[in-house]
Amino acid sequence: MVQKGQIGVTTDNIFPIIKKFLYSDHEIFLREIVSNAVDATQKIRTLSDVGEFKGDLEDLSVKVSLDKKKKTLTISDRGIGMTAEEVDKYINQIALSSANDFLDQYKDNMNAIIGHFGLGFYSSFMVSKKVEIVTKSYKEGAAAVKWSCDGSPDFTMEEVDKPDRGTDIILYIDEEHKEFLEKEKIDSLLKKYCRFLPVPIIFGKKQEWKDDKYVDTEEDNVINDTTTLWKQKPAGLKEEDYLKFYRELYPLSMTEEPMFWIHLNVDYPFHLTGILYFPKIKNNLDLQRNKIQLYSNQVFVTDSVEGIVPEFLTLLHGVIDSPDIPLNVSRSYLQSDQNVKKISSHITKKVADKLEELFKKERSQFEQKWDSLKLFIAYGMLSEEKFYDRAYKFALLKNIDGKYFTFDEYKSLTEGTQTDKNGNLVCLYAGDRETQYAHIDAAKEKGYDVLLMDGQLDVHWMGLLEQKQGKTRFVRVDSDTVEHLIEKEEKENVTLSDKQKESVTEAVKSQLPAMEKTEFGVDFKFLGETSRPVQITQNEFSRRMKEMAAMQQQMAFYGEMPDTYQVVLNVDHPLIKQLISESENKGKEELFAEVTSDGRLKQMVDLALLSSGLLKGEALSNFVKRGFEII
Ligand code: ADP
Repeated sequence: MVQKGQIGVTTDNIFPIIKKFLYSDHEIFLREIVSNAVDATQKIRTLSDVGEFKGDLEDLSVKVSLDKKKKTLTISDRGIGMTAEEVDKYINQIALSSANDFLDQYKDNMNAIIGHFGLGFYSSFMVSKKVEIVTKSYKEGAAAVKWSCDGSPDFTMEEVDKPDRGTDIILYIDEEHKEFLEKEKIDSLLKKYCRFLPVPIIFGKKQEWKDDKYVDTEEDNVINDTTTLWKQKPAGLKEEDYLKFYRELYPLSMTEEPMFWIHLNVDYPFHLTGILYFPKIKNNLDLQRNKIQLYSNQVFVTDSVEGIVPEFLTLLHGVIDSPDIPLNVSRSYLQSDQNVKKISSHITKKVADKLEELFKKERSQFEQKWDSLKLFIAYGMLSEEKFYDRAYKFALLKNIDGKYFTFDEYKSLTEGTQTDKNGNLVCLYAGDRETQYAHIDAAKEKGYDVLLMDGQLDVHWMGLLEQKQGKTRFVRVDSDTVEHLIEKEEKENVTLSDKQKESVTEAVKSQLPAMEKTEFGVDFKFLGETSRPVQITQNEFSRRMKEMAAMQQQMAFYGEMPDTYQVVLNVDHPLIKQLISESENKGKEELFAEVTSDGRLKQMVDLALLSSGLLKGEALSNFVKRGFEII
């Protein structure tokens, strides 16, 4: 006998909502139907384990099949199945009454709908003009039933013949969604969503290349790996297992092995499992993101975890799995979810624990890995207050000789020599060993230590350390002459007459090559007779602003400003002394003519530019030519 009925919803039933609000993500229907099949399969296993089901379990695989002629996609399981009463209860009533509830609740806020509604079985109507359920319960004497619904509130239910227990969900794919009748499409969706489900998912047969085409073999095409490493106990796993799983997760893109990993395993107060790998992070943040995959009970949810975990953690690789993370929800909803927040701060804590443990137990190994970890840790410190507090203890500063120090260690090392007259610790650094060599050398000669800060986030990171630590400044070695990098006492000011200043400044400027977006100022300092006559420095503040601007849009204004350098003349040096005294006696024109024909000032300026890496192109070539001429 065929039973007819109406799905119990108000006039505007559930289907328009499904079609309308989840339009962008239609493919998730397959994930929903297959995970229902897997749930039903695991339930029969459990019932068998506890002795409530006494029959043979036999093959428990879930089978997915396509029929192009009938235009159907069928998902079959040998799980617990449903009796007619259960179909009525779980399919006709439950889903729809919950639909009613939320319609009332969210009339005014349609976005929240997606947030609160587990679509489950009904998501199949996003792509089907008709859906049939043919199911037979495992219960003794249960009759098989067929439920059918064409997307209107009307359904039919009738008894049918079905030899075996379990459920077939038959989707009659509609015209608009023909793509879901393509083998390749279904294959890729199964691989995306079902790769780590705990029950074998079979989609057709494995194929082989024969007589110029692919043909089916006898062997089932099993989509998934049912062992699911992250669900296993860490104690039983070896390093090789983790590395193998890593390669399985990222078969194509990543050849480099991860440095280490964390196996997450939490039962309380929320459920969380997963494995997070620390990759070697190169000096490019953007390429590295979004490798973490989020699962809910082994069903793939998304591989874009931004907003779910703190931003810096998106640089890690691996999987996290939590049934407490709601599916089918909008990102803004996820971000405000309490469970998600707890999970996210738990992960941050675990990551800090792991790093601290490594640092404490295997400092030399930690140092070896530091260069590949630094960007990640600096990013974390910059973006998460809590992580800063933890990481401060193990974050390392690397000096130009390749030695590593924690911040506190570095403080005690340099305090004695590098504290300025105001009690500030001045940490000197270089951004590039080659172009700043002369400055590095001068600083070292003076007994200072020089850090290497060549990372993408270093300018921001130093700014943060200055702000958090107080009484600490980072100063690049070329931002002033070595005598002035760390001011120990009030320095005597150079007093020159306006005439001297003006003519010498102009004479020096006349010897500088024209450079685009670059400006030079001229400065006079007492630097001692043995120091160089001319040096070039670049102010720390304006240079940092420009460097930060290169990374941040809202600072673009600074990026447009020219690079400004100071040409510092050492008034203690005999050559400069001579120039100054001549400027007093001679007129400007005369001084220019003399300086130009003499060539010494040009040579001094070029040498200063050269040692700061600023002598380029034509100016460099002319300099070389002149050098040969002298020989
Ligand atoms: P959910 O899975 O979130 O409970 P669904 O709408 O997907 O919501 O499914 C409703 C119910 O229908 C399930 O809880 C289950 O009891 C039943 N069901 C769905 N698919 C199957 C299946 N393949 N085998 C047995 N029962 C099923």
